[in-house]
Amino acid sequence: MAVILDGKALAASVRAEIREEAAQLPRRPGIAVILVGDNPASQLYVRNKVKDCEECGFFSRRFDLPFDASEEELLGILSKLNADPRIDGVLVQLPLPPSFDERRIIEAIAPEKDVDAFHPLNVGRMVHGVSPIWPCTPAGIGVMLDAYHIPVDGKICVVVGRSNIVGKPMGLLLLSRNGTVIYCHQHTPDLAAMTRQADILVVAAGCRGLITADMVKEGAAVIDVAMNRDPETGKFTGDVCFDEVKDKASYITPVPGGVGPMTRAMLMRNVLSLAKLHMGLTT
Ligand code: NAD
Repeated sequence: MAVILDGKALAASVRAEIREEAAQLPRRPGIAVILVGDNPASQLYVRNKVKDCEECGFFSRRFDLPFDASEEELLGILSKLNADPRIDGVLVQLPLPPSFDERRIIEAIAPEKDVDAFHPLNVGRMVHGVSPIWPCTPAGIGVMLDAYHIPVDGKICVVVGRSNIVGKPMGLLLLSRNGTVIYCHQHTPDLAAMTRQADILVVAAGCRGLITADMVKEGAAVIDVAMNRDPETGKFTGDVCFDEVKDKASYITPVPGGVGPMTRAMLMRNVLSLAKLHMGLTT
């Protein structure tokens, strides 16, 4: 039976460390979170982010714009936040309503306040290995691997999913730690042949039940990023068939309680890192 990676407990200890470090700084780290529209999942995410800020002792501002707000209105807010010295990180909750050009909005956030590390300049820095922060989900998985002493160097790492926010940066992070990375996606012809090679298998497809025990190498570390809502129970499930895979893997993340809480904690860590940069305490 695999060791279950407890993201909830680890995230709580990360937040406690952040709070302690933030209290030593000359001013409170600050973040602005902008929500456009009334998507219930996004509203919950934003509420949680603001709650985490309170727990970490951060200054936070929340902006709620209606679904039919204009792109110009949002760009105007971003321009003010980019110039606001109390704000270290700016986060626009995605997805935006379809009338918005998401790329244009992401590129309007000052790169030094881009707390999600989605701006193309920061993506370039990530590729070059010189970014001070990583997108929250891969960052959280990196911290989890460290906390459970799961080595990456020299290992075969398979990432299922190639989105800009999870899959792609996840592969880059594993590569930066000297993993040999294989990316899989919807056009991968024989997914099982790839996943069976993985010492570390990260799954972020959003496809419930995608990974069965026969697709997993004995002793692998299996990280399930997905959060699929079960239509019958309303509960979240991952992409990995947890009950069968846990008996074959060495390590496995539960859903919920695995990657999700770590993603939240990493947002706080990214705000702290940007704040320290802005205060001239790190380079
Ligand atoms: P996305 O839809 O942008 O990307 C999904 C990727 O998976 C695509 O690259 C696609 O090619 C690939 N894919 C889909 N079906 C596949 C299949 N059958 N075989 C192989 N590849 C397949 O999604 P995303 O934003 O990257 O999110 C992925 C999942 O992770 C979702 O369930 C999302 O809710 C979840 N998520 C969780 C967290 C967290 O903190 N736990 C954070 C972000 C996203």
